[in-house]
Amino acid sequence: MRKKLLAALLTATMTAALCVPASAEGMIPGAYRVSEQGFGGDVTVLMTVNESEILDVQITGENETPNLGAVAVEEMDDQILKAQSPTVDGVSGATVTSTAIITAATAALEMAGADISAMESAAADAQANTKRTEEALSTDIVIIGAGGAGMSAAIEATQAGKEVILLEKMPYAGGNTTKATGGMNAAETHYQEEQGIEDSVEQFIEDTMKGGHEMNDKELVTTMAANSADSIDWLDSIGAPLPKVSFSGGATNARIHAPEDGSGVGEYLVDAFLRNLDELGIEVMYNTKAEELIVTDGAVTGVKAASDETDYTIEAKAVILATGGFGANEEMYTKYRPDLKGTVTTNAPGATGDGIVMAEEVGADLVDIDQIQLHPTVEQSTSILITESVRGDGAILVNQSGKRFTNELLTRDVVSAAELEQEGQYAYIIFDQKLRDNLKAIEKYVKNNITVQGDTIEELAEQIDVDPATLAETLDTWNEAVADQEDKEFGRDTGMENDLTTAPYYAIKVAPGIHHTMGGVKIDTEAEVINTEGETIPGLFAAGEVTGGVHGGNRIGGNAVADIVVFGRIAAASAVAFCDAQ
Ligand code: ADP
Repeated sequence: MRKKLLAALLTATMTAALCVPASAEGMIPGAYRVSEQGFGGDVTVLMTVNESEILDVQITGENETPNLGAVAVEEMDDQILKAQSPTVDGVSGATVTSTAIITAATAALEMAGADISAMESAAADAQANTKRTEEALSTDIVIIGAGGAGMSAAIEATQAGKEVILLEKMPYAGGNTTKATGGMNAAETHYQEEQGIEDSVEQFIEDTMKGGHEMNDKELVTTMAANSADSIDWLDSIGAPLPKVSFSGGATNARIHAPEDGSGVGEYLVDAFLRNLDELGIEVMYNTKAEELIVTDGAVTGVKAASDETDYTIEAKAVILATGGFGANEEMYTKYRPDLKGTVTTNAPGATGDGIVMAEEVGADLVDIDQIQLHPTVEQSTSILITESVRGDGAILVNQSGKRFTNELLTRDVVSAAELEQEGQYAYIIFDQKLRDNLKAIEKYVKNNITVQGDTIEELAEQIDVDPATLAETLDTWNEAVADQEDKEFGRDTGMENDLTTAPYYAIKVAPGIHHTMGGVKIDTEAEVINTEGETIPGLFAAGEVTGGVHGGNRIGGNAVADIVVFGRIAAASAVAFCDAQ
């Protein structure tokens, strides 16, 4: 890591600081500033100490990812101050930023002459001696998980006049929702109408069923499709419009709704949801993990949860599970799918299946639990997912021989399987400057150094060790197909609005990664959780990736966001009705 000492010492000189023998008690009082390379730019730690204590920590890093690295910048000053040690947990999921902060804080303390290992062991002793406290809370509805489904539910339930407690085990909200890059599928929306796009709820249902290999629960699919336009209106009403409508894999018509400015739908919605939570006075209980559902006389009546210091017993009239899937829990996904051992995951670290385990413990039935989706365009060294919009906007996939091998916009499972049949089980996604200019998401890929660039197709081919003549021929054939609107080779008929002729050209090496766990807790169309006897479990509702049935054997792009918003809101409405009936 690049280390940069910007300015040092207010009350001591740097020379003095560096000459001091390291000791826990013998620091040179002063302020020490060190910068390190974070995820989006420099993060800087300004550490103020006296002889024996850290007095103040200030961390800055304007370019870190919102709701992720930015949380580390915001939170870790307190962590370090409280621990009196630079070696703190940091924020999982924001590893690069956390590590940069720990490294900078350690360097600053070393400048002050601190004995870092003495500090670490004193912090470990203090931690071991911390006494846990117990707290009892009571509310109308507990919502577990502050991802898209949980936050939609929290907003809806609060708007309906109920008091909610929203638990989030991570120090930040958003879960896998933050990572959604495409958009939200919805049919018969006012945006489609305004843009002259013909679509229907029936076609949406048909596409979803077909994409899911007809394994989906058709009633749940119908509920999602029929309520999708209303959820687009609801998003308008909470200041999160999705007006940009385009094609996405598996959809017959232009149906995926995205933010106007081309930003990733997940980050955009999570920001909007957080703003709404703030306005409604809903506080997320961060770093608080739900561990067990409380059952009284067969009904779920609360949740046991724990933070670092406190064990909570939360009594509630209803509980909504919105804990997401289990794509980040290798032990759990290999239990259901041993063949996936060692596959990289695109999932947020909180996606460990807790809600599925908790629901099972109270008798919930599970559906399609072994249905796990691979996403075909994941950069393997960073697990960064290359959004489907890149292909939707015109990119192609080629193998190491420089040849296309599939219709790039078939469903994710089909494209992933096709990739796994290629030499080396990977592919390159190829696009041009025009596509980059029109899709903001690409800047992130460039910033993370996962793109390779060439001023000509041949130059690009050389960089990725592909035969230049073959790649040039592939591009020529493809550009003719776009001009003729006919892909003779693979029958692709969507995402053909733009040819690939504007230099420079780009490639990203991709392979499949675990993306979505389609299976989960069984629910009905009211988002009530169903037990193994086929009956509802009173007081327990679930929405989003924690549930199974909506996506069947394969989720099509744009349906995760539709699922979380539609069913998050339904779970809230059902929980509200359940509270009112008591
Ligand atoms: P969805 O798309 O269904 O909303 P997400 O993955 O976006 O799912 O969000 C799920 C959220 O639930 C994540 O923020 C995750 O950290 C949180 N979560 C998972 N398990 C627990 C738990 N046991 N207690 C509290 N929060 C949890």
